Amino acid sequence: MGIARLAAEGPLLEAKRKVQYFEIAARSILNRTKPNMPFHWTINPYRGCEFGCKYCYARYTHEFMEMAPADFEDKIYAKSAAALLLRQEVRKVRPKEHIALGTATDPYQPAERRFERTRSILEVFAKESGRYLGITTKSDLVVRDVELLREIARRNVLGVHMTITTLDEKLARMLEPRAPRPELRLAAVEKLAKAGIRTAVFPNPIMPGLTDGERQLDRLAKAARDHGAEGFGGGPLFLMPSAQEVFLPFLEENFPELVERYKKTFETSAYLDKAYKDELASKVRRIRDRYGLVAGPMEYRPEIWVQEEQPTLFEL
Ligand code: SF4
Repeated sequence: MGIARLAAEGPLLEAKRKVQYFEIAARSILNRTKPNMPFHWTINPYRGCEFGCKYCYARYTHEFMEMAPADFEDKIYAKSAAALLLRQEVRKVRPKEHIALGTATDPYQPAERRFERTRSILEVFAKESGRYLGITTKSDLVVRDVELLREIARRNVLGVHMTITTLDEKLARMLEPRAPRPELRLAAVEKLAKAGIRTAVFPNPIMPGLTDGERQLDRLAKAARDHGAEGFGGGPLFLMPSAQEVFLPFLEENFPELVERYKKTFETSAYLDKAYKDELASKVRRIRDRYGLVAGPMEYRPEIWVQEEQPTLFEL
């Protein structure tokens, strides 16, 4: 039998996931947040996120495009003309207003390696001054842009917030199947911190019975401090119906003992109750204080940007 026929007749062992990338025209790139948010503007260069975290709250954004929550991780849309739009729109941002990059999708997800929409946005900020910019990611790809980040940080207030929900590699793989391993994220924090970029570690979202143990959070805060992070803070999980569609089956398969608790908690509200939130907030505060870490946005400290003293990428 010829090899071609053998190949054609071979049974399918496994079909790998297929991710599709699309371009999408965006009317604007800077989005105004509702009042009382810790930032005033958001930027998300992509719609959809390939990391596929089981708890991801942003799956609902694909519903606007009449797609299923699961499509969120397989159909990724890169916003076209992101830098051009930002150059036009950044004038709307008033002094001291905070801009958050990567609130609904990860700006350093795999698509960024090829399409560089996040990098194009950073190139715009590198020409700005006096801006307040926070970048949130789970990816060590952020280190690719370290020189650009240093350029931004010389004249703007910049913080990179690395999300690490757990140091337990196995649990992280289950919860965040295609995100870089926690140790790679910590290594990225260290590289950024050594390059003079101010960093924080956020264990968001903190999940009851999975990642909310005092010892787990303590280990994480210590690791953050040991890798040069200055900030640590975290908030509890919230599960909208579109996120429950993915998260509850995940629990049923992997943590059946937690299913009833979660169903009861989230059946009438996407939010955890006040008592849990208050207790968690004091736990995080206690741990943060233990390691001398800060909570809030980084303050503007241009004095630390003495150009001559900055190491180059090769010295990291
Ligand atoms: S990295 Fe963030 S946006 Fe991407 S899937 Fe995970 S939680 Fe969602």
